[in-house]
Amino acid sequence: MTPRHEENGYPRTAVVAPIDRLLHARPVHDQFAADVFTERVMQQRLPKDVFKKLIRTIKHGDRLDHDLADVVASAMKDWAVENGATHYTHWFQPLTGLTAEKHDAFIVPDESGGALSEFTGSALVRGEPDASSFPSGGLRATFEARGYTAWDCTSPVFLNRSGGAITLCIPTAFVSWTGAEALDNKTPLLRSMEAVSEQAIRLLKIFGTHEGVSRVMATCGAEQEYFLIDRKYYFERPDLLTCDRTLFGAKPPKHQQLEDHYFGSIPARVMAFMNESERELYRLGVPVKTRHNEVAPGQFELAPMFETANIAADHQMLVMETLKRVAARHGMECILHEKPFAGINGSGKHVNWSLATDTGVNLLDPRDDTHTNMQFLVFLCAVIRSVDMYAELLRASVASAANDHRLGANEAPPAIMSIFLGDMLTDIIEQLESGTPKRTMKSGQLDLGARTLPHLPRHTGDRNRTSPFAFTGNKFEFRAVGSSASVAWPTTVLNTIVADSLDFICSQLEKSLGKDHTEARLQSAVRSVLQKIIKQHKRVIFNGDGYDKAWHTEAAKRGLPNLRDTVSALPVLTAKKNIDVFRRFKVLSKLEIESREHIYVEKFNKQVLIEAETATNMARTQILPAAIRHQTELAEAVAATEAADVDAADLRGELEAHVELVNKFRAAIEKLEGVVKAHPADIFDHAGQIRDEVRPAMADIRELADELENRVAEDIWPLPSYREMLSIR
Ligand code: ADP
Ligand code: MG
Repeated sequence: MTPRHEENGYPRTAVVAPIDRLLHARPVHDQFAADVFTERVMQQRLPKDVFKKLIRTIKHGDRLDHDLADVVASAMKDWAVENGATHYTHWFQPLTGLTAEKHDAFIVPDESGGALSEFTGSALVRGEPDASSFPSGGLRATFEARGYTAWDCTSPVFLNRSGGAITLCIPTAFVSWTGAEALDNKTPLLRSMEAVSEQAIRLLKIFGTHEGVSRVMATCGAEQEYFLIDRKYYFERPDLLTCDRTLFGAKPPKHQQLEDHYFGSIPARVMAFMNESERELYRLGVPVKTRHNEVAPGQFELAPMFETANIAADHQMLVMETLKRVAARHGMECILHEKPFAGINGSGKHVNWSLATDTGVNLLDPRDDTHTNMQFLVFLCAVIRSVDMYAELLRASVASAANDHRLGANEAPPAIMSIFLGDMLTDIIEQLESGTPKRTMKSGQLDLGARTLPHLPRHTGDRNRTSPFAFTGNKFEFRAVGSSASVAWPTTVLNTIVADSLDFICSQLEKSLGKDHTEARLQSAVRSVLQKIIKQHKRVIFNGDGYDKAWHTEAAKRGLPNLRDTVSALPVLTAKKNIDVFRRFKVLSKLEIESREHIYVEKFNKQVLIEAETATNMARTQILPAAIRHQTELAEAVAATEAADVDAADLRGELEAHVELVNKFRAAIEKLEGVVKAHPADIFDHAGQIRDEVRPAMADIRELADELENRVAEDIWPLPSYREMLSIR
């Protein structure tokens, strides 16, 4: 689809060429990254030695030299002020799943009634927002309300332009005052990147391919799906306004506007929005390209080029914010919810993931010579082992109230974690398992016993859109991630579990190789480790249709877990195995993971209860009154018809049916109000009650309301319909 598959290099360098190409197509070349304090700007503005030291930290993960901070801060401030900034903010990602910022001005008074601008190293390096207003899942009780933000120099600072204000944004990690407990999404992501880098390098050393490599980076490219609707409708729907999804709404007649959306041209207003979003994102250095061919009416997609996972995760947050902000300017609302419209395709975020060395080698690229290919199979098998062993954890990493409506539904990947490999790789894995590799499929020659491995074609050509975790040429694509979620957390989990498998493989290899590092020994040691892994974990490989019911039966037979909803998925976070893996790789402590579980459960409860309350409120104050008005009209019509001495039997029948429906609806509202009031004290019990009682009661009132919508006169119905909302013009 894009030239990026041809670029297998380290993302930063790989990104440059296609971005230039993209930008040459539009007159915005000089605008690219204009609002980012890039390496080039740093080089121009920082003393040579300071620049060099900072780059060493950014690129090679060396510890940050605090003496640099004042110099860097001052250069940043000058650059920001020259670009019109008046304020700076530490920009961080608390566990609300959103971003947070607190602005401070650069301005300080001088001695003589004037003002100077100032930005010190300590203000750059450390901030102190009030942590008590962010979720800490019990950490607060233990560690006080205080939290610090700490500059993450590996993600570039940028200017935020909003409402005429220009603010210097400093990406930061957010930790408790001891500095030890992560209160955000970035800190564990950075830790997991260290962990996977360390283990990957260990493996490269075994293969002797570590020359010049100082880091291995997890790379990430996250495709964002979203809906656009006219803002007028958005404000007319309390459910969209408070929950970002419709709680009521009868499905439009089958496929009608679905087709004219899919084949129709993009409305000019949407085009203008896309163009402006792209430009804003380019200024922020986010390498996006836009696609607009999503299946559902009103649904669109934006895909960026991949970058190192930490920067990609930051950029992804900027993508979501930018889409929302720009849409509003065009009189539209950008809806990021996973399932805003029942019965219509949901939205996901496909997280493309790989590992690349800082010398430019994509470790999941199946091509190249013997060593690289052998290495590829090791990395491939490491991922297979990880996804099978930690399937539940991976599932839990994408669990949310919103994603529940999508995962397992017809058009989304099932909640069962499985890997799509494609025919060619599956064949090779099977060959490997039997231990007697012969030459295989036309595009590659397999000769594991000897010195050469097959030159694998980089594109197998086959695609499987139903798999939650698919190998797509030279990377994996994790498709179960929700459209409104931060990619940081699932990526953290992926990095951590792959670090675990690499650690396992390295330990085995180091043990069996000892000091004897001949090529032949290496080949046979690797083969034997991989064979064991394949035997044990191949059950997770599935190339068929993930939407098929038969797969559920088959998966159960294979013993693959199927955690259907958030309430069953979240508790696995604190399973011993998962606590252990986080702890072993220093990604999260036991306390941190427990607090996260707590926060996620609490968030689930809050979200569904807000929905339930919104639903009862809309039902009582909007839908029921409309239904009664309609009832009155019908009753008046019956009376008038009978008074005119005309047979009104049919009309009376309609009235009676309507009254019956209205009564059922009223009862359903009462039922929902009742179950919402029940309030088990323990948050986990509460979550269970919400799943088992609140959600079904919500489904019941929705079903009746949607039936009413199909009966009540349109001029009385108080809410914009799906048809209106989904045909964006
Ligand atoms: P499609 O999935 O439609 O074929 P692409 O293959 O072009 O689309 O890429 C989808 C996403 O995968 C893009 O964001 C792209 O940058 C990303 N991607 C490509 N290579 C890698 C990689 N090595 N690591 C992480 N993401 C990657
Ligand atoms: Mg894709």
